[in-house]
Amino acid sequence: MIEFISFAVVAVLTAMMLLGVYFVKKKGYDPSRFTRPAAIVLFALMCIRYLWNAHSIALFVVRGLNMYSPFGDSALFTTLVAILLVWFSYAAMFAVVFSEFYSYRSLRHIATFFSVPVFLFALALFKIYGVGTYGVEGYTLSNIRIWGMMLEIALGIALPMSRVIVCRETLLPTKSETKSFLAILPFAVLVIMPCYVPQAILGFADASVKVEDLTEVHRFVIYGSVIIPFIIFHALKNKSEEVKRFVMIYMSLALLWSYMAYRDLTSWLIPTNLPLHLCNTAMFIIPICLAFKLDKVFYFTLFINVLGAFFAMILPNTSSSVNALGAIRIHFWINHYPAFFMPILLIALKLFKRPKFKEWLYSQAAFAIYFVAMLIFNAWFTNYDSGVDFFFLNSDFIVDKLGEWARRTRDFTVTFNVKDLTLTFYPVYQTLFYLVYVAISAVMWFLYALLFTTWDAAEDRRLKERDYKDMKKKLKEFLGDRTIFEPATGDDSPRLILREFSKKYGSNKHYSVDHASLEVHGGEIFGFLGPNGAGKSTIIKSVVGIQTITSGEIEICGYNVEMQPVQAKLHTGFVPDHYALYENLTGREYINYIADLFEVNREYRDMIIEKYVERFQLVGSFDNQMKTYSHGMKQKITIMAALVHNPAVWILDEPLTGLDPTSIHEVKECMKEHAAAGNVVFFSSHIIDVVEKICDRIAIIKKGKIRACVTLKELEEKGIDLEQFYLDIIYSDDEPTLDSEDSENDLSISGEKVADVI
Ligand code: ADP
Repeated sequence: MIEFISFAVVAVLTAMMLLGVYFVKKKGYDPSRFTRPAAIVLFALMCIRYLWNAHSIALFVVRGLNMYSPFGDSALFTTLVAILLVWFSYAAMFAVVFSEFYSYRSLRHIATFFSVPVFLFALALFKIYGVGTYGVEGYTLSNIRIWGMMLEIALGIALPMSRVIVCRETLLPTKSETKSFLAILPFAVLVIMPCYVPQAILGFADASVKVEDLTEVHRFVIYGSVIIPFIIFHALKNKSEEVKRFVMIYMSLALLWSYMAYRDLTSWLIPTNLPLHLCNTAMFIIPICLAFKLDKVFYFTLFINVLGAFFAMILPNTSSSVNALGAIRIHFWINHYPAFFMPILLIALKLFKRPKFKEWLYSQAAFAIYFVAMLIFNAWFTNYDSGVDFFFLNSDFIVDKLGEWARRTRDFTVTFNVKDLTLTFYPVYQTLFYLVYVAISAVMWFLYALLFTTWDAAEDRRLKERDYKDMKKKLKEFLGDRTIFEPATGDDSPRLILREFSKKYGSNKHYSVDHASLEVHGGEIFGFLGPNGAGKSTIIKSVVGIQTITSGEIEICGYNVEMQPVQAKLHTGFVPDHYALYENLTGREYINYIADLFEVNREYRDMIIEKYVERFQLVGSFDNQMKTYSHGMKQKITIMAALVHNPAVWILDEPLTGLDPTSIHEVKECMKEHAAAGNVVFFSSHIIDVVEKICDRIAIIKKGKIRACVTLKELEEKGIDLEQFYLDIIYSDDEPTLDSEDSENDLSISGEKVADVI
């Protein structure tokens, strides 16, 4: 009879809800306006049914399927089905409710392909479901909760189905989605297991199997508190922050649900039972901190709860008669495991930042408030219930474990009478307790710092090793049967080649340099022109190897800059736009230091030093510390340092900025000389006059693309003035699309082609 009614009621309610979603959608509103409040109703119903009067659930007393089962001693299978129905309905409800607020496909798959069947089973086996929760006597239509179950089932079916039927969401999982569904589902179900499931299915373990005093079994359970977070960390570490946060919120709420479903909300009416013990508070603080990103409160949990949970795990506060598989024991672990590992896991997953000393101070402020509140609460409520002992501040539980000296600290008491209340404090014991806890949490700060530094170093090393392996493989492919010391074509004559070089910085949307190609040969002075931000320095920094290459190739004297960086650098001299010298050294010391790096022999370096010291008029100051030098003198030292190993390719980024006319003249002479000796001189400049006077060839770059590459002779022959040529290109409106691969960048284009372009 009840089954028939439940079937009819659920059918009608489900149809009504589907129609409700249909009409909301038809009116042009978002269906979530209907489905979200409905999901909250589902959650509230289950809260009332399972958390309020939790201990009245009939399955609570089952021991090993055949003892105290509401279905009788021999109904093993039926009892098992009832246990699984209640357990899975927890997980099914969570998936339905969460999937209304988070649109992850995996979650929606669980809601559709797990929750709906679970609720359908609950309907088909309504009697088993109902008797399992309310016993034979409670399974009657006069029990309002039985009607609540019908509404829950209807909501649990209608909400996910409305997405498929009304909203026409295509939810069929792909192959990889099926895989992740199958991997996530056991986790989602396991974390919400009711505390009584092990005892109900397996029975109590032998009473001698103790989970305390660090016995083998106890240690085994403690190891779990380290292994479980490691597994979760590895499963989540490469996921996005959003996914990590969601999984952690789900997990902390599911554990809280399991914890509460054994705690019984009615018991909260008695002060002793309020969840104010340190680890109880963690159960609530963690999901709240995650959902609302409350950083400061989180550090309370990290420094105070973790410590408390750790002590509780190694010194469980239960009598030795408590059974290893008993619900009380499972409840204890559900309470303490997350309080211990979740905060550390959240830091490891980078959902909260690594604590600095400041964060430790926040935790201490919160701890002081908690401590004082518990002192007062304990003293006050002892008047009504002598067992009130939050944070063990009132009882001899801790001192008993420490011996006679500790017991004596409780001999000092201070008592106040407020109206008809007596407030008793233990100043010595409680002050010592506070100070010791603060000291231990300070030690935790060091331990965390140590742990995180070691962790980071290991992670860093792992990444570097991985990069190194990749690089080695790439290098092997690149070199073929050549050695790293040989240039690509066996020819190391002076040249600089860019092939389709592109560079994009970090998260920039656009390429700073886009498919630039260029070839400069020995004997040439090559000028690189372009407005600020055009990409000149970007190209130069990649050529000299101080910046990575996004795509394309750069070659110096036949050596690939990425694959043979040392060989490429040995052939390069570089004058940066902003020199960075070791200014405490003298000019001589610095030049010798650079010459040592390039292994320049003594004779050659002495010759260079002599030549340039005289030429740059540094005779009187060369042995003074460089911090006493002017800008021009420092620039000259930078030039000497770049030339000390006689590089085949000399690169200068805006070398003339801030120099006086004589210095400019000297630098120009050096450039001419170096090119005349058969080397490449490649420099960027704003100063068109200088470029015009000394360059053989120039390139003009605008918005990351090379717009023209032309010999000055060609321009001269055509009677084109360089300045006008430059301005025409810079002001022409042919906006390049930075991502395109058009051939305009082909820098072997001739003068006529350039003229065509403009
Ligand atoms: P130039 O040397 O021609 O003045 P740059 O090569 O310095 O130009 O800059 C080219 C573009 O790249 C600019 O849009 C600049 O904002 C960008 N850029 C340069 N350096 C960086 C960097 N380190 N991070 C992000 N963007 C950068």
